[in-house]
Amino acid sequence: MSGLTAPKGTFDVLPPESERFLAVRETLTAPLRRAGYGYVETPVFEHTEVFSRGVGESTDVVTKEMYTFDDRGGRSLTLRPELTAGLMRAFIEHRLHTGALPVKLWTIGSAFRYERPQAGRYRHFTQVDMEALGVDDPALDAEVVALGVQGFRDLGLTDFELLLTSLGDATCRPQYREQLVAYLDKLDLDEETRRRAEINPLRVLDDKRPEVQAQLDEAPLMVDHLSDSTRAHYDAVRQHLADLGVTWTEAPRLVRGLDYYTKTTFEFVHNGLGAQSAIGGGGRYDGLSAALGGPDVSGIGYAVGVDRTLLAVQAEGLHIGAAAGVQAFVVPLGEEARRLAVRLVGQLRQAGVAADTVYGGRGLKGAMKAADRSGASHVVVIGERDLAEGVGQLKDMRTGEQHPVPVGELFERVRASVGE
Ligand code: AMP
Repeated sequence: MSGLTAPKGTFDVLPPESERFLAVRETLTAPLRRAGYGYVETPVFEHTEVFSRGVGESTDVVTKEMYTFDDRGGRSLTLRPELTAGLMRAFIEHRLHTGALPVKLWTIGSAFRYERPQAGRYRHFTQVDMEALGVDDPALDAEVVALGVQGFRDLGLTDFELLLTSLGDATCRPQYREQLVAYLDKLDLDEETRRRAEINPLRVLDDKRPEVQAQLDEAPLMVDHLSDSTRAHYDAVRQHLADLGVTWTEAPRLVRGLDYYTKTTFEFVHNGLGAQSAIGGGGRYDGLSAALGGPDVSGIGYAVGVDRTLLAVQAEGLHIGAAAGVQAFVVPLGEEARRLAVRLVGQLRQAGVAADTVYGGRGLKGAMKAADRSGASHVVVIGERDLAEGVGQLKDMRTGEQHPVPVGELFERVRASVGE
């Protein structure tokens, strides 16, 4: 077989661009660690039921987009299309709810969806996911939302928006749903949209097609039908967000793709990304644990797309994640010098100095080019004549100054010099 390529809808992350990818991962997750969230890893595949029950049987993700397969033991497994359901499965399995609450967790990793690929939409992508479980407190909702905002701000992003709404809960959504269904019944909708309306009428509100939007001007909105308790909850969330210096846009028609959201619901959108503008989203999901057979505990969390956030960073022309590079570079000329170079680089690395050398017997010119490209501030050249005299040449690349240094002192001198 020749010409193998990465599967459709996937891509490779290569240096030096990969440094930016790492920087985005790091910057998006640092605020979570500072806020007491603990790191979790769960498998990339789960029993299919985790997602069919945990994401929702009626969602596009479950009905159309999952990578589901039978393993050799005949079990139905699915590559995770998102990270929340697996995290909840682990939370339940390990009975984390029996400890101190809230349980605050985060994870990062691959997700898989069989979607139609386009800019910003892939079949393999990376999400940061965080959850605060076991407590229903509006202050916790505000903490979660604010941590999402913090990650984007720390990257230097400014052209993004927080869309916020409340989806009510079991005390008010059923009545609202009836009103919405009655309203939708009177509209001129195609068969597929009607079917969608039957499963989850709220989704129709989020339909982007102009012919559908044109008919929705007078549609009843959940925020106008919240019960007293969910209204008070939403007011408190907004109060805390204002106290935290977070601004938002009210988005009464925001509906998230997954079925389990209640109360606080939000999305982060970036204005430089075209159609796939959502860089993250989340909300409260008071029924998820129970849906997975766990205790009836509430939760709130979000998922942020690392790949799309990187696109947002590029759209704003931000310079982050410059390659770390090396501090010291050793250029040996000849066999004997090579042994010395290998030893010196090994010593430097053990001492915590980023060091490198050339391989493959390159001449002086090629080796110096490699030294230059490495970005090292200090280069040691060990020529045959130098070696005969028992020295190496230590060059400070910033000033161009060069001095002979006795071989026995090279390690200490380089280590001291790069620290200056
Ligand atoms: P969701 O789990 O659908 O709420 O998605 C959360 C975030 O993951 C979105 O806001 C996107 O940033 C990202 N995301 C979702 N699907 C994809 C995809 N197919 N390709 C790239 N990023 C995605």
